[in-house]
Amino acid sequence: MQTAFIPPEPSEVLLQMPKCNIHTHLEGSVRPETFLELAAKNKVKLPFDPAKVDEKFRVDGAEKTLVEYLNKIRVNYAILHNREALYRTSYEAAEDAHRDGVIYLELRDGPALHSTPDFPVEACVESMLAGLQEAEAKFGIVCRLIVAGLRDHDPQVNVDLARIAGRLTDQGVVGFDLAGDEAGYPASLHRGAVETAREMGLGITVHAGEAAGAENVRYAVEVLGAQRIGHGVRSIESRVVMDLLKKCQILLEICPTSNVHTGTVPSIEEHPLKTLYDYGIPISINDDDPITSRTRVSNELMLLQTVFGMPLETLQEIQLATLDHTFLREEKIRARLKSKVLEFAVIRPS
Ligand SMILES: [Zn+2]
Repeated sequence: MQTAFIPPEPSEVLLQMPKCNIHTHLEGSVRPETFLELAAKNKVKLPFDPAKVDEKFRVDGAEKTLVEYLNKIRVNYAILHNREALYRTSYEAAEDAHRDGVIYLELRDGPALHSTPDFPVEACVESMLAGLQEAEAKFGIVCRLIVAGLRDHDPQVNVDLARIAGRLTDQGVVGFDLAGDEAGYPASLHRGAVETAREMGLGITVHAGEAAGAENVRYAVEVLGAQRIGHGVRSIESRVVMDLLKKCQILLEICPTSNVHTGTVPSIEEHPLKTLYDYGIPISINDDDPITSRTRVSNELMLLQTVFGMPLETLQEIQLATLDHTFLREEKIRARLKSKVLEFAVIRPS
């Protein structure tokens, strides 16, 4: 078995720096100890020895594809079927992000994976929102939710999901995402769901250009009207797509370590993030699945410094640009968060 790629520990400055995390999945954020507690409480029979929870959850370096990576995350589905579980894991995801110095979080999740006849999708989303609101009240981290439709789900399930998400905007749902097996299921299957979400005022982001090529990024932007792209790293394969992203200022939600773990890039050194950024395409830096990938935003920023030589000023500029591309509806809050980023620059010049 090869050794897993684990990003370096962040410097104190990067840990303290006010940051955004706008691409992070609830399923990849569950603390192993919380998983075991909830499994025991709900009498969920685990298909593995509880002492091995850590290795079941986290990358070990043997993953080669997005599907293998997603199988690590799927372990969590066994416990996320009631209000307490979704409330608590959402709250803890926000608490952990806060500890990493994140001031703005857009957590995302596919609630159709958690619903049961007794616990419908709407209740799933409301449980997550309640957990995020509690974390926001306690820690001051501003939290919003992106509802994700899964590519392998029935298209009508995702249309219904988009409609439910659109009805909960006043409680903190800000966006709609298409996630899951990109190579196996084309986004065109879910055009109706994305259109419904857009009509209901949600921001649109689509996982594309991760497990399949640049053409998927182009489709997401030109046909689905995506304002942001999840990953989009394979945009580097097409000058036409890079020009489109630059011209329309579509932000790429970059998750460097996750891209190594899913085999999207052969190594961190070969990640095209700096080339894309230097080309004039807006990027954000995120952790995707912090528990699964053993990383946080500050670790990812450390990679930008150490592997790509990007200075602190650039990392702060990325935070400001990210805030411009968040799906946050309240301009006043956006302005307040931007001033937090800028204040830090004044206090701690690099
Ligand atoms: Zn993702």
